[in-house]
Amino acid sequence: MRRSLENVPAYLAGKPAAALPGLTSFKVSSNENPYSPLPEVVAALSFEQINRYPDISNTRLRDLLAAKYHLVTDNFATGTGSVGVLQQIVQATCDFEDEIVHAWRSFEAYPIVAAVNGAISVPVPLRADESHDLDAMSAAITARTQLILICQPNNPTGVAAKRDELVHFLDRVPAHVTVVIDEAYVEFITDQRIADSLDLFHNYKNVAILRTFSKAYGLAGLRVGYAIAHLDLAETIRKCTLPFGVSNIAEDAAIAALKYEDKLMVRVRHILEERSRVSEALTAQGWKLSDSQANFVWLRMPGKTGVFTQSAAEVGLSVRPYGDEGVRITIGEDEANSRLIEMCATFIKEVGQV
Ligand SMILES: *Cc1c(COP(=O)(O)O)cnc(C)c1O
Repeated sequence: MRRSLENVPAYLAGKPAAALPGLTSFKVSSNENPYSPLPEVVAALSFEQINRYPDISNTRLRDLLAAKYHLVTDNFATGTGSVGVLQQIVQATCDFEDEIVHAWRSFEAYPIVAAVNGAISVPVPLRADESHDLDAMSAAITARTQLILICQPNNPTGVAAKRDELVHFLDRVPAHVTVVIDEAYVEFITDQRIADSLDLFHNYKNVAILRTFSKAYGLAGLRVGYAIAHLDLAETIRKCTLPFGVSNIAEDAAIAALKYEDKLMVRVRHILEERSRVSEALTAQGWKLSDSQANFVWLRMPGKTGVFTQSAAEVGLSVRPYGDEGVRITIGEDEANSRLIEMCATFIKEVGQV
């Protein structure tokens, strides 16, 4: 085995909720969309052709994306979820022991994907308000840096960099270093001060964007994500594809999800209303929340993460603890959100201020 992998943790997935007698349990640990797929999306899945390989570059889907974003088909590269595409991006940009700068705590796949591909992960601590420390990230760039990952908004803390600071940062990144803006939760951004990444993409030759059908579009189980990239990088990302990774059923589903996007965005707006309801209730209870621009809330509570996770499990909520730093809770079904509010009120009374 490669020695460099010895200390790489396995990806820890959010746990399903344990069944409790007389109580519906909810999995609010993986930032999934709580709604079952639209009937229109299910109806679009064709099983007739599963004896055939899918189109290796998902041209039908990339054509639609090109029309949606007013770009060309070759600006897109698809993969098995945006994590799959991220892996391709690392393979497309990093040779052995090249460096990838990213925030920490951030998406746990980043250090894993770096190590598995022989690159070196350079984690840069978040600021006290849970945002990316872009000054420190730009100071962390060395001659070996090939890739910078901006998790926008950041998983698990929910905070997104503002337009001005991101532009200031991009102005300082050397042109040969690729900056990937990972926008898995972009549909949940409401703060107008956050940059439109497409503008940044048009203004900077070294910016690429990662998006996914897993969160707002509700297709996490089918594994489809994509990169928006300038032509030379997009082509290299496609070269690094796991051949036929995105199945024809997954492609059908993604195409239908784009077609019925308006219906899906009604659901997103409801999740946003629920995010406000949960955030306001928890703030009123005395919790200090970060400014989440995603479909989850983050509660930093060193020393209390374990007991909080346990209390949540006892009321049928499977939340996502991060070591002893804090807990991330997905905005889920209305009932799950209400239960979280109640549980947090009890917790703060019994265990005290966090
Ligand atoms: C969920 C998530 C992804 C998307 O994962 P898929 O592979 O597309 O399912 C990517 N980046 C971040 C930060 C995420 O939280």
